[in-house]
Amino acid sequence: MQVRFVGCGDAFGSGGRYNTCFHVTGAQTNFLIDCGASSLPALKRLGIAREEIDLILITHFHGDHFAGLPFLLLDAQFSRRTRPLVVAGPQGIEARLKQVMEALFERSSGTRQRFELSVVALAPEESRSFGDVRVTPYPVVHGESGGPFLGLRIEAESRVVAYTGDTEWTETLIPLAHGADLFIAEAYMYEKIVKNHLSLKTLEQHLPEISPKRLVLTHMSDDMLSRLEQVTHLAAEDGMVVAF
Ligand SMILES: [Zn+2]
Ligand SMILES: [Zn+2]
Repeated sequence: MQVRFVGCGDAFGSGGRYNTCFHVTGAQTNFLIDCGASSLPALKRLGIAREEIDLILITHFHGDHFAGLPFLLLDAQFSRRTRPLVVAGPQGIEARLKQVMEALFERSSGTRQRFELSVVALAPEESRSFGDVRVTPYPVVHGESGGPFLGLRIEAESRVVAYTGDTEWTETLIPLAHGADLFIAEAYMYEKIVKNHLSLKTLEQHLPEISPKRLVLTHMSDDMLSRLEQVTHLAAEDGMVVAF
């Protein structure tokens, strides 16, 4: 299995990075985790075959994780995609997807797709399987609007990849990422504690109880990016590939 960091930036393009979008592939597995506003150009830049993606998992409805979907879905329609596609995310995703499609491309939400599109709402701590991919969403803590907020534990091909989503520290991150082959964790700030986001120093305090096999930091602000030289963990970059 491998993950390619199509985009690992925050909402503000810190460091010139694209919004969140991770491409996970294996022998039978091909899915995206999050689809931020800039994801279609980021996927095209890397030459990733969009028509081979079977599943898109969404952690929450902020634009840097969700607003790439209208572009991706219209591109799929115009490039004559035929393969079925599943989009799964927090409760309310059917209505939220319709809203963002209409806001960005009026009348696009009523278009009949040439391909079968399933939009699936995920309930916290209820595992769902999509083909060979088993997803367990955990509730995380990320403010008042744009939720529900999920972190994801994903099992596929005997491997586990866990992703915090955007969140301040919450105890659910322990079962979410415990022993994961790959733990992708937000490290928004270096040490300063802010609401709604995770700082590296807070994450580090809890790493022994999480004990992931590999850790990659993502969603870094300018504060964090400016201190990367002091960081001993692997930090994501756009285009980076990590096997797990
Ligand atoms: Zn974000
Ligand atoms: Zn967010």
